[in-house]
Amino acid sequence: MNSYQLKPLKSNGVKNGECLLQLNDFQDKNISQLPEGTPFIVISDQNKPLGQALKGNQNKGVAWLWTRNIKDTWSEEFVSEKLKVAYEKREKLKANPNTTAYRIFNGEGDGLGGITIDLYNRFIVIDWYTQGLYQYKEWVYHWLQQLNRVDGIYETLRFKTDLAKHRLVWGIPSPEPLVIYESKRAYAVHLGQDWMTGLFLDQREVRDFINQQAYGRMLNLFSYTGAFSIAAALNGADTVSVDVANRSDRLTRQNFELNQINPDNKHHEIRVMDVFDYLNYAQRHDLQFDLIVCDPPSFARTKKRQFQVIRDYKDLAKQVFSITKPAGMTILSLNHSGYLADEFRTDMLEASQEVIGNYHLIQTFSLSEDFPTSADSESNYLKVLVFYREA
Ligand code: SAH
Repeated sequence: MNSYQLKPLKSNGVKNGECLLQLNDFQDKNISQLPEGTPFIVISDQNKPLGQALKGNQNKGVAWLWTRNIKDTWSEEFVSEKLKVAYEKREKLKANPNTTAYRIFNGEGDGLGGITIDLYNRFIVIDWYTQGLYQYKEWVYHWLQQLNRVDGIYETLRFKTDLAKHRLVWGIPSPEPLVIYESKRAYAVHLGQDWMTGLFLDQREVRDFINQQAYGRMLNLFSYTGAFSIAAALNGADTVSVDVANRSDRLTRQNFELNQINPDNKHHEIRVMDVFDYLNYAQRHDLQFDLIVCDPPSFARTKKRQFQVIRDYKDLAKQVFSITKPAGMTILSLNHSGYLADEFRTDMLEASQEVIGNYHLIQTFSLSEDFPTSADSESNYLKVLVFYREA
C-alpha cells in the first residue's frame, strides 16, 4: 500500500488526535497525484506508522485519517461498524420522543471525516464532502437502509462535481414540508432542495436555553427560518426576526403557524431587511430588547456592504450590546472554525467593555452532544457566548 510521510508538526498533531491532513502537512507533495478514494498509510517524521487515511480533496484538506491501527482494512465492514457505533451513541436522543431530528454521524468526530448524516423523523440526509469518500457511497446506503425507522434517504454533494447537488437516493420522498420536533417545538424542514434544510441541528441546546430564558421582547438577528424566535415565542416572549433573504418571511411564518402562534399579531414581527440597517434604525428609535440573539454567517455581501466575521464581529457585537436592556441578555453565536474560541471570547469581552452598561459572560455553548468533535480545530466550529447586562 502507498505510504506518505508527514512533517514533524503534523506528526505531533496526529499523535494528539488530529485527523484532517492538508497538502502542506506532507513531506511529499505527490500526495496530490494520488487518486481520490485511495487508502494509504500515514508515516510520522520519525518513520513510524501513525495510521491510515483516505485520499479525499475538500476545501479544508486532502485526506482524513480513518484509523490509527495499521492492521485495519478499508472495507464495507469497517465503515458499517463506524456507523453502528455512532448510531448507538445517540441512544438518549433516540429514546426521546420530544426530539425527532438530530445528527447520527458527525464526520471526524465519529471517526470518519468527510461525511455527516442527519435524521429528520424517518428521513435521512447524508452530506458528502469529498469525491474520494463518495466512491464508497453504496456501503453507507446499505447500512442506512437496514435501519427500520427509515423511509427515505437524501444526499447533498458538497464537493465540486457535475452531478446534481441534491437527490433522493432511496425510498420515498419526504412530505413537503416535513415537520420535525425538537424539545416539542415544531419546525418545518425541506429536504433535497438546498444544503440548508431549514433548521441547523447543531444549535439545539441554544434553542432549548432560549426557550427556558426568553421573556419580554426578543430580537433575532440573521434569523433565517426564525428557529430561535420560535423557541422564545413559546416561552411567551414577543419577537422581532430580521433576515435579508426574501425566503425568510415565508419560512418563519410557516414555523410560527406550526406552533399555533399567529405571526401576524402585534407580538411578532418578521423583517426582511439588512441587519445593519435594522441596528441603525433601532438605535435611532431607542429600541431596546430583553434578549438578543445574533448569529451571522462567516461572510455576507449585500448591495451596501460586505461583512467578514473575523474582521467585523466586534463592531457588530458593540451595536448589539448597545440595544440590550439592563437585566437583559445578549447571545453571540459564531459559526466559523478559523476564528478560534479564545480570540472570539477575548474580542467579545472587549466589545462588552467598550459600551455603556456592565456585561457579564454567564454561559457558553458549543456543539450539541450529537456533534462530537475531533482534536482538529476545524471540527469544533460553533462558539456561543451568553452575556448578561447588569440591571
Ligand atoms: N440564526 C439562523 C441561521 C442563520 S444563517 C438559525 O438559527 O437558523 C445566516 C442568515 O443570515 C441567512 O438566512 C442569510 O440570509 C442571513 N444574512 C446574511 N447577511 C445578512 C444581512 N446583512 N442582514 C440580514 N441577514 C443576513
